[in-house]
Amino acid sequence: MRFLEIKDWTPGYLNVTPQHMTILARCEVCGSEREFDRTNLPFGVRHALITDIEARLRCVACGAKGGRLRFGSYTTNEKSRLPD
Ligand SMILES: [Zn+2]
Repeated sequence: MRFLEIKDWTPGYLNVTPQHMTILARCEVCGSEREFDRTNLPFGVRHALITDIEARLRCVACGAKGGRLRFGSYTTNEKSRLPD
């Protein structure tokens, strides 16, 4: 399974991020990534700016503060990208 990131794109606010989209939180210090779970957030965060959320991230692997959210989706079907 591969994560296809939408390059150079951000929804701006978390609440306008399409539900089918996968969000990965990436630590810029150690490079670790984990899925960002939108279903269990405090109310104040649900409508927050993406940049504010990024600033509040804390890496579970190395403890570094801050990070980057990547938007996209997982793909398993490479054939769908080939012409008929
Ligand atoms: Zn880290």
